[in-house]
Amino acid sequence: MQVRQTRQSSVLQNSVVVFSRNYLPLARINIKRAIVLLITGQAESLEFGNTIKWKVRSPSIILEVPEHIRLTVANPERLWKVPPVNRREVLRRDNHACQYCGSTKNLTIDHVIPRSKGGLHTWDNVVAACERCNSLKGDRLPYEASMVPRVKPKAPAHPAVAFAEKFWQAQQEEDAEVETIVM
Ligand SMILES: [Zn+2]
Repeated sequence: MQVRQTRQSSVLQNSVVVFSRNYLPLARINIKRAIVLLITGQAESLEFGNTIKWKVRSPSIILEVPEHIRLTVANPERLWKVPPVNRREVLRRDNHACQYCGSTKNLTIDHVIPRSKGGLHTWDNVVAACERCNSLKGDRLPYEASMVPRVKPKAPAHPAVAFAEKFWQAQQEEDAEVETIVM
């Protein structure tokens, strides 16, 4: 009894990759959330690559949870909106690094074209900047200050796009490992 409970809770530590209806990998979700999606019919098992499954027991049912599930309901990616332009989201987009010197300390938001010169508070005109670079640049245009952001700012990518890239790369690495073992 004790052992089973331990196993059960370790199973629940796992995560599952959820695909959209159109078979695009969207995200890695907690196994508990995957179970809810499966039980409520919002997702189905998707056999993909290896077929490792977890068995989750409840008093009334034994549920087999695959490593990959596919949503049967409308695509949640439509619900995603470009996040608002605020300090937290800008720092996240810029990987918490000053876009002028790379520092990760005392970060602020810099308007590439200063607001006093008509610059807008939009994704393509804001970057993370440390306090030092921000005050160094002051109210000047990038060419006046000879300070140009390392990466041209733009709105953050849809999280599913970023996730899909990582997912397929990981799959390719896994396949390469399998081939090595076979050889
Ligand atoms: Zn800086």
